[in-house]
Amino acid sequence: MPLALDSDLTYIKGVGPARAAMLQARGIETVEDLLHYFPFRYEDRSNLKPIKQLAPGELATVIAEVKSAKLSGFRRRNLGLFEATFTDGSGGTLLGKWFHGAYLADRLTVGTRVALFGKIEFDNYRGELQMMHPETELLTGDDDEGDSALHTGRIVPVYEAVSKVNPRALRTIIHRVLEQMPDLEDYLPKHISAKLKFPGRTDAVRAAHFPPPGTPIRMLNEFRSPAQFRLIFEEFFWLECGLEIKRRRARAMPGIEFQLTQRVREQIIKLLPFKPTGAQKRVLKEIAGDMSYPSPMNRLMQGDVGSGKTIVAAEAAVIAIENGYQVAILAPTEILATQHYFSLKPLFEKLGYVVMLLTGSTPARDKQKLKDMLRLGMIPVAIGTHALIEKDVEFAKLGFIIIDEQHRFGVMQRFELARKGVTPDVLVMTATPIPRTLAMTIYGDLDISTIDELPPGRQKIVTKHYTNDQVEVAYSELRREIDQGRQAYVVYPVIEGSSPGVESETQAMKAAQQMYEHLSKEVFPDIPVGLLHGRLGSAEKEAAMSAFKAGATKILVSTTVIEVGVDVPNATVMIVEQAERFGLSQLHQLRGRVGRGAEQSYCLLITEKLNDTGKERIRTLVDSSDGFKIAEMDLKLRGPGEFFGTKQSGLPSLRIANILRDPDILVAAKHEARSFVEEPPSPEAFSAAVEYIKGHWQRRYGLVQVG
Ligand code: ADP
Ligand code: MG
Repeated sequence: MPLALDSDLTYIKGVGPARAAMLQARGIETVEDLLHYFPFRYEDRSNLKPIKQLAPGELATVIAEVKSAKLSGFRRRNLGLFEATFTDGSGGTLLGKWFHGAYLADRLTVGTRVALFGKIEFDNYRGELQMMHPETELLTGDDDEGDSALHTGRIVPVYEAVSKVNPRALRTIIHRVLEQMPDLEDYLPKHISAKLKFPGRTDAVRAAHFPPPGTPIRMLNEFRSPAQFRLIFEEFFWLECGLEIKRRRARAMPGIEFQLTQRVREQIIKLLPFKPTGAQKRVLKEIAGDMSYPSPMNRLMQGDVGSGKTIVAAEAAVIAIENGYQVAILAPTEILATQHYFSLKPLFEKLGYVVMLLTGSTPARDKQKLKDMLRLGMIPVAIGTHALIEKDVEFAKLGFIIIDEQHRFGVMQRFELARKGVTPDVLVMTATPIPRTLAMTIYGDLDISTIDELPPGRQKIVTKHYTNDQVEVAYSELRREIDQGRQAYVVYPVIEGSSPGVESETQAMKAAQQMYEHLSKEVFPDIPVGLLHGRLGSAEKEAAMSAFKAGATKILVSTTVIEVGVDVPNATVMIVEQAERFGLSQLHQLRGRVGRGAEQSYCLLITEKLNDTGKERIRTLVDSSDGFKIAEMDLKLRGPGEFFGTKQSGLPSLRIANILRDPDILVAAKHEARSFVEEPPSPEAFSAAVEYIKGHWQRRYGLVQVG
């Protein structure tokens, strides 16, 4: 019986309930999912060499048996050196060495048959051929792993293990599925496949798992074989189609045609405390253009830290308010909302606008009053956290929403539900500038404006790296600045684990608390020190922030809550403790809290002793002040998943495509997707595409409501 694509995994021979559960935990639930679990690497084992014929310098695959094995050093913390010698009957011996290899001691026991893949070296000392850290694959399976011809003598796919389902088992299972599977339906529009000379979908899936003999191995490992190209293109194509459709639907909604009158212009000029930069003017023009257009705006404003996004958002808000609409400003945390409130209130009050703050810790009675006033249209500007988007919050005439990128999805959904008649214009702000290709994918349904110029007179922040044993030097630099009348931040990381739960946060609070005690009592007993963290009540937070703002406290010890938003131009030093725990972009954001005035500012990064990669990471920050460059480096080092954090729903989980590796294919796919949506070959082709996206990709890509 052929397998159906939606069959449960247990229908596959070799997949029992235990394995099925492990695969499911990784999101592989059906036969179809499994078919889209692609190898991350390929090995050419078609040209197996006997050990005797190996030469130093070549990359080779060897099938051999363990002749002897030895573990030296500490087994317990996986610190030991594991060495094994291998023979294959050709008369030669090969030495394999693994540092931190204790885990291999139980696997590579004498007599075990393995495939080894790696670079051949010559060990001068022993006069033997060796491989350092070769890839290994056990060929003596403990269960039925099929035909050994599947694993050797050909180009083999290497899969990332799924918990205990090892690469070899995956290869076997997937091969079995491919043998039994029906032809896959090919949804990619025919004219595109023909134009780009793509192989059919079934062939492409087969060849991406088991490449035909003779496929250049390098091409495969660069993911540019015709089969891989097609699959990557296809995945981007559907993603971009979905985003394009979503964006068009949003555009087709009835929106507000804001009027850009003389009065609006005058009010904006009155609002501005300084002369905007060229980039700020350009971006405001883009936003104002959208707002005056009859369909709803969906725009992302990105710009490096300190580039002045806030004032541009405020200018846009003036347009809405002067047109008689209300404005909602949403921040991801209470501290940020409060901070926005403090910085925007004086600006808006100059124009006579009432500004309110609504967060989780607003007292119930005040909350009710604020809500009533909001519903009656008495308050034009509401700033808040998610408390502002709870179901019972009603606006009389909401016309413009400014949201922090971090919770745009939840917010959009809520307002989609709440929508009555007109759709408000939405401006999303992001604190992390990201490379263009990535922005295109994640924010594909938004128009993007970039502020690519800093306000004049900014000095480069001098960034230095100290290890823990040099922390006194950092403290004395801090003191020097305080003595000159400046202020300082000392930042502690909230340690993010796989589940950024209560525990780690509490720990960070404790660390910050301890640091606060230490600094205020022992290191700087003569200087007023403040403390700010997420667990404080809102009154305490406000007090801590105002005290620092007013200069009553000179040093503010804080967890990362100050990452974005806090604006104290007199602060010229920031010490970041345990800086190695932060992502580079996050550090860059943090650093942006200083250097906001005319004085030279300093960022002192304290770490433990680092290895070379760690040092290089920190050096990126010491050397560069370009947020885009730093983000790119961060992405390279951490990968997109971790870069955005697993919780971030904005990042689509791609199956074979990789934004960093495949920007060229992304651009091509986006182009095709756009013309397909703009001018579909036929109405049927278009509705088929919509159905397909709804059925296959909507949930995966987080495309809320494609159709
Ligand atoms: P961002 O939110 O983009 O990180 P902010 O909006 O907080 O940056 O602006 C950073 C600082 O620069 C603020 O102190 C702000 O008042 C100031 N600023 C913004 N634009 C200008 C400008 N055109 N000229 C002078 N100062 C500016
Ligand atoms: Mg509009």
